[in-house]
Amino acid sequence: MNKCHICGSNEIKEELVKETFEIDGKLVMVEGIPAQVCQRCGEVIFSSEIAENIRLIVHSNSQPTKSIQVDVFAFSA
Ligand SMILES: [Zn+2]
Repeated sequence: MNKCHICGSNEIKEELVKETFEIDGKLVMVEGIPAQVCQRCGEVIFSSEIAENIRLIVHSNSQPTKSIQVDVFAFSA
């Protein structure tokens, strides 16, 4: 039984998620990643196998399926 390492909940569900990663100052997004998602706190957990797959995808020179524009805001209090 999987347990959330953040809140300790065992309400973990397998879901397809999207995640953004910053590679050499460039933001990339991978979607459709099978992950375990904590239903209580929303923590997303990837198996080491999946994490390795993601690493290979974002570091390869494969063509992204699409591009999106990202607006960046500087935080000010
Ligand atoms: Zn949790």
